[in-house]
Amino acid sequence: MLSLRPNAKLDKEACLVLIDQEQFKEKKVALNNTKIKDALRQISQLNSFTAENGQIFPISHNKTLILLVGLGKRSDLSLTSLRIAVRNALLSSYLKKVRDVEIVAHEQTESTLKAIIEGHLIGTYQWAKYKSKDKNDQSIVEKNVYLVASQRKSLEDAITICAGVNLARDLINDNADTVDSKHLEATIRTLIKGKKHISIEVLNEKELKAKGLGLHLAVNRGSLKEPKLIIVKYEGSSKKGDYTAMIGKGITFDTGGLNLKPTGHIETMRCDMSGAAAVIGTLKNVLALNVKRNLIFAVTIAENAIGSGAFKPGDVFKSYNGKTVEIGNTDAEGRLVLADAISYIVRNYKPGRIIDLATLTGACVVALGNDYAGLVVSDDKFSRDIVHSSNETDDRVWRLPSYPELKDSIKSLCADMKNVGFPKGAAGALTAAEFLRQFTEGTAWAHLDIAGTAFVDGSGRWYYGHGATGFGVRLLSHYLTNP
Ligand SMILES: [Zn+2]
Repeated sequence: MLSLRPNAKLDKEACLVLIDQEQFKEKKVALNNTKIKDALRQISQLNSFTAENGQIFPISHNKTLILLVGLGKRSDLSLTSLRIAVRNALLSSYLKKVRDVEIVAHEQTESTLKAIIEGHLIGTYQWAKYKSKDKNDQSIVEKNVYLVASQRKSLEDAITICAGVNLARDLINDNADTVDSKHLEATIRTLIKGKKHISIEVLNEKELKAKGLGLHLAVNRGSLKEPKLIIVKYEGSSKKGDYTAMIGKGITFDTGGLNLKPTGHIETMRCDMSGAAAVIGTLKNVLALNVKRNLIFAVTIAENAIGSGAFKPGDVFKSYNGKTVEIGNTDAEGRLVLADAISYIVRNYKPGRIIDLATLTGACVVALGNDYAGLVVSDDKFSRDIVHSSNETDDRVWRLPSYPELKDSIKSLCADMKNVGFPKGAAGALTAAEFLRQFTEGTAWAHLDIAGTAFVDGSGRWYYGHGATGFGVRLLSHYLTNP
């Protein structure tokens, strides 16, 4: 839990004082708290604390533990390193058993305060549902954090947005067998229950068949779970039309299909619904923030499983818009479910623009690594808007090229197109995007390949621990609230 308070009081068990080297030299502390100033004066005589980035130094003051948190040189400090510093301080052994913590920062700009909020709410998120509780270990106590900052709506909104990020992370981190299409539908229905200006359409297997979403159905053929395309329409604006559609890839588990993924690549594949999770997290935020825009939230859900019923390499399937697709590789299934969802939404909802999010290609990870998502976008203005929201939120994206000649790379000898690009191994992130572009029918479109950024397979990266990052929720929430 995080709340804002206008003045530093030093009335909690602990107080984090965030301070860079220049501020330390000048003994400047937020809101000129004399008690903290006294403590700083004493500590500067010891020469032990130098406010280097990452340094955490404890002092006791009456009954309060003051932790000085060094931020290094002001010129070197980024918002990302600030988030990391806040996270590390809150998770440090000094605060293991502390429940109530005040945070004081000299710098009171909006971006700084938002970064501190995220360092706490995103940084200290832990996925512990299946960990047995050790009664003696209090290290995972949820902290009540009191951030010294004047009350303002933008900061309250930042707190709200983090809840959407962490909802997405919960959905991704939980077992693939738990978070199936039913679970995702139930999650969405709970979010929208009782809300105004909202409607939902759910295409189950029966409706997908009746309407001819043949690519979506093909992907799910080996699974015992039901495929679903869930579409939520939100009329936040009194202006008619001009819908922005967000479409998330929701492969609840991706074995790769008959082109089975090898050991070392399959273990984290419950994260293949991270695009859908980002759309659901954003839906939560849009409802909480009462966003005044017309929006469509769509999640296209299937499980790419193996078995005698599974779809087969070399076979051809027909998409919702009538184009036929040769299956070059069953592990390139994300573009299949997305293609049908994109054309279904384009034809039936006629949005002004589409943003899709998908853990789509390993090739994107090869190209950009784990820190930047790939962005393929239909025009420069749309690109600038997405990149702006990316820069403001630390959901980092990097634009990749898209051009008409790419169409030749997804040619098939026996169908209208193929679901893998040619030549093999060349620009796989671009050819995957090009495949999707074939279904946009000229609608303005931005595609985010989040294969590298959605999940941390390891002990941690930046201010994220192991597991889902919730990538995309902050970016979309910013984009939708800053027209
Ligand atoms: Zn796959």
